[in-house]
Amino acid sequence: MTSPIRTERHDNVLVVISDNPPVNALGQAVRAGLKDAIGEALADDSVEAVVIRCDGQTFFAGADITEFGKPPVGPNLPETLDAMEASDKPVVAAIHGTALGGGCEVALACHYRVAVPSAKLGLPEVKLGLIPGAAGTQRLPRLVGAEAALPLVVGGNPIPANKAEMIGLLDALVGEDSLEADAIAFAKTKIGQSVPRSSEGKANEDGVRDPDLFDRFRASQARRIRGFDAPNAAIEAVKAAGELSYADGVAKERELFMKLMGGTQSAAMRHYFFAERAANKIDDVPKDTQLIPIKKVGVIGAGTMGGGIAMNFLSAGIPVTILEMAQDALDRGTGVIRKNYENTAKKGRMSAEQVEQAMGLLTPTLSYDDLADCDLVIEAVYESMEVKKEVFGKLDEVVKQGAILASNTSYLDVDEIATATNRPGYVLGMHFFSPANVMKLLEVVRGKETRHDVLATVMKLSKKIGKVAAVSGVCPGFIGNRMLSKRQEQANELLMEGANYWEVDEVLLDFGFPMGPFQMGDLAGIDIGWHRDPSKVTTIREALCAVGRFGQKAGKGFYDYDEARNRTPSDEVKQIIADFAAKEGKPQREISKDEIRERLLYPMVNEGAMILEEGMAQRASDIDVVWINGYGWPLYTGGPMFWAQTVGLEKVVTGLERYGLPVSNYLRTKAENGGKFD
Ligand code: NAD
Repeated sequence: MTSPIRTERHDNVLVVISDNPPVNALGQAVRAGLKDAIGEALADDSVEAVVIRCDGQTFFAGADITEFGKPPVGPNLPETLDAMEASDKPVVAAIHGTALGGGCEVALACHYRVAVPSAKLGLPEVKLGLIPGAAGTQRLPRLVGAEAALPLVVGGNPIPANKAEMIGLLDALVGEDSLEADAIAFAKTKIGQSVPRSSEGKANEDGVRDPDLFDRFRASQARRIRGFDAPNAAIEAVKAAGELSYADGVAKERELFMKLMGGTQSAAMRHYFFAERAANKIDDVPKDTQLIPIKKVGVIGAGTMGGGIAMNFLSAGIPVTILEMAQDALDRGTGVIRKNYENTAKKGRMSAEQVEQAMGLLTPTLSYDDLADCDLVIEAVYESMEVKKEVFGKLDEVVKQGAILASNTSYLDVDEIATATNRPGYVLGMHFFSPANVMKLLEVVRGKETRHDVLATVMKLSKKIGKVAAVSGVCPGFIGNRMLSKRQEQANELLMEGANYWEVDEVLLDFGFPMGPFQMGDLAGIDIGWHRDPSKVTTIREALCAVGRFGQKAGKGFYDYDEARNRTPSDEVKQIIADFAAKEGKPQREISKDEIRERLLYPMVNEGAMILEEGMAQRASDIDVVWINGYGWPLYTGGPMFWAQTVGLEKVVTGLERYGLPVSNYLRTKAENGGKFD
């Protein structure tokens, strides 16, 4: 096999070039080639400096993730980089594209770093539940200081070249189109000087002088890193860089890295990394399916969902025509869109021109005729089959042939909606989540007649509007809400048996959800779907509505809220629940946190198994993608199906049986045959 690394001589400079498409991942052959090339440079007296660069679209963009979990084949990255840094001939990294993870660590081990202005540098390992493992946490703070290193190592987001230069991570920015020549020229200016090694840098003394900076940083990130092991390990590693010698710091980094690598969080996050990519693929839709161009989108209904849905396309530069039944609803809807954009601008995340640009792409209308030339129309009207069918009938009449008609329905039968048209092949569900301009998930609901090109187009489009898509078959509630209803059923049942509702919420918060079911109810409004008759009380929710406890908007729901929306459990509600349970003849008992957790989550796994059995999801990992992106399931557990495997499917089955809850044959069979879903 030819090496992906080649060398070229330019006078007294050896240029080492990697050609390992698509992203110059640092696989074994690349590492070996780099190490050999450095050996070649050191052995040849006529070489006085080295430049390392990459062919193709990017500098080394990271480790070769396919090597994870396999027996390591040397040389490993740390020893390769140590050999590089040990050179007393200057070694210059010449960066374009993205220098990420191991790629950034290569750059750190070089004596100098130059980059084109469009380049980005970053250490995204935390996103896979890890920290850098080739001395990145030790070299970076020594080079740029602990304060500048922390956001890079702990946050994992790459920074642009100009910022990297500002913090001292880059020595120079060079011409966008003259990287190699400029890097060679730069290297020549360094010949004969003693080389600066990042491992010997002193910038990290800022963290020694002001050790509180680590706690301040941790506090500032508290919400974002809650429950995640890797960011905390990353902070510890950067702190260690100031407290320990370089060699001991590297040993500390290794220890932390190995612990994370062997833990369930990183396994879960690596699972998710592949799951998200897999979810965008539909097994029976050929890769080369011709896509339908989407140049103009229609949205029906400018309510909560319609407005948010429209914003996704406007923000992506796609014109939207939005239709309502009456002028006041239309004005209200477009007003909310504008306000949302203006709020984003106020926070500095958008310019005033960008707000106008997005709004300029929006055409409000009351007339279906204005939708005639749309390539895709998404319906977001009331959740009523009758209304939806009427809308689809009208759309079928006016919208050009070959255009896609989508429904944002949460529960309704997309196949039945499609019967209102003469083009059922062009009908599907596009189920956005609230707030639709923010939430990442798009459940794509595949009707029995939905065409391949329609599906492929929507999957591709989902990426363009920044969504993570997963395909569901047609069943009530699709993947996400179908499983949610099982959790909600148990949440309600637990209250009736004597569990405190705040404990139920707490169990889910402790598990890593951003909020529990009763907090969620208060936020959404307990009166959604309420019949408005205070004398008719058949559920706890109706009992709360009857006394005006509608949720946060009323200042009280399950919880009492103060002006700052801080919640406290309510004695009144506790009494209402106890009275209701007594009326229903339900005895009350103490319920442990373990029981609460298992009864909330195991039935979801069982429902997920049934969804797989019925072919409503293509693969278990798609279900994980839905729950992580649409419902706040903690990423570090890998999603409900992956999590169930880490718990043990047999344990899940036993748990369900213990509580007298249903166990599907599919789940039982998987538990008996290896305990894996896929
Ligand atoms: P909403 O009541 O806020 O908005 C519906 C809008 O549709 C209203 O402005 C109404 O005037 C308009 N409308 C009704 N009939 C119409 C018609 N025939 N022609 C044109 N406009 C019409 O409701 P929403 O919360 O935005 O929900 C819309 C759809 O999205 C429902 O199917 C719902 O199940 C689904 N959904 C809602 C959420 C959510 O959290 N709210 C999440 C996912 C999906």
